[in-house]
Amino acid sequence: MAVCCSLHVSRAALRGWLPAARRGGAASRPCRSSSQGRPVGRTFGARQTSPSFGFLFDIDGVLLRGRLVIPAAKKAFQKLTDSKGRFHVPAAFVTNAGNCSRDSKAEELSDALGFKVSPEWVILSHSPLRLFHQFHDKCVLVCGQGPVEENARDLGFHHVVTIEDVRKAFPLLDMVDQSRRPKELPPPPADFPTIEAVILFGEPVRWETCLQLIIDVLLSNGNLGVELTSVPYPHLPILACNMDLLWMAEAKMPRFGHGTFLVCLENIYKKMTGKELKYEALIGKPSTVTYRYAEHVIKQQMESWGWTSPLRQLYAIGDNPMADIYGANLYNRYLQAQAEVSVTAMAAESEEHVEMQRDHSVSITSAESCQSILVCTGVYNPQGDVPADHNENMLETVFHGHRDFHFDPTLVEASHVVHDVNDAVELVFQKENWKLE
Ligand SMILES: [Mg+2]
Repeated sequence: MAVCCSLHVSRAALRGWLPAARRGGAASRPCRSSSQGRPVGRTFGARQTSPSFGFLFDIDGVLLRGRLVIPAAKKAFQKLTDSKGRFHVPAAFVTNAGNCSRDSKAEELSDALGFKVSPEWVILSHSPLRLFHQFHDKCVLVCGQGPVEENARDLGFHHVVTIEDVRKAFPLLDMVDQSRRPKELPPPPADFPTIEAVILFGEPVRWETCLQLIIDVLLSNGNLGVELTSVPYPHLPILACNMDLLWMAEAKMPRFGHGTFLVCLENIYKKMTGKELKYEALIGKPSTVTYRYAEHVIKQQMESWGWTSPLRQLYAIGDNPMADIYGANLYNRYLQAQAEVSVTAMAAESEEHVEMQRDHSVSITSAESCQSILVCTGVYNPQGDVPADHNENMLETVFHGHRDFHFDPTLVEASHVVHDVNDAVELVFQKENWKLE
């Protein structure tokens, strides 16, 4: 099996993915330069014609490097926007960043690119949680840093408890840092709510505190004042955003990402209970949930601008083979599988589909395909990375993806490889025979 992800959306889709995977129906062969792009036979005229394709842009390594804008991004958006900053073609920004608000990310992009980027076009790693309505009225423990509580409330969660709330109510639970141990025995907390789910937004600051308290919440079934004689299993639902094991900052060596925190949590839970930690949802690239949500955002954008053509093709541009390319190709498999399943069959499976399909604002119809375009301005190294001979080198490959996403070399093979985002946009315009006025 190529992919196993413990997501509601994936359970139903997996059955459909498998035949496509066995046929090798993932990414097409790489195109090494933009000049090799081929028109696909559909002719669009000038920009007033409704576009039937859209862009999903990764941010870091594609549009920005740290706080600096990549010059090719400015060129690309001169082609994509008119003098008022209005898109000629729909576009959304999909990033695994999550320790910030989408307003601040949109502001950062607006400053860098020179036109107004709406927060609604920005998809952070946690953005799809907006559609997980079944958790919005539950009491959720949130973990991460930055405006975690504000983000949770903005996403629709009404009963939010932070790690700090738990620590203050139960100070005897946080004992690693001796300087933070309580000097006096605290009174038992009154009316502390029962926690019903755990949401992991991103890497926290104090890992030892967060790991301890999350494990405590799971082992007490959300009632921290109660001592249970057996391990409650299945444990409380866990929703995790951003699975990146590592990320590149200013240092030459990569830094721990939220995926590393998840590795710690999974292994501590397994060691203590002998059971697997399971996720209700894993969100953020390369999760299919994130791409499904991104498609939803693109369609909303098209509708708001009065573009009536159905969305046919998505182009996902990124610099990280394991997140951007794997995710786009995985979503392409999902779309191919979905195309093979009749609408009637899909309706019959609706119980197993993610909540977004129960939300009538999300269209059941999908794009026909999602093509992945890899750029060389970020983490991808054209001289290394994916082995040329998969069979020979697979055992030597270290897979940095999440435990629930198995390594499949075809999923990290981009549909196209170009130098930068401007080349990517030109390639897409050429493929779509899209001419600007
Ligand atoms: Mg990137």
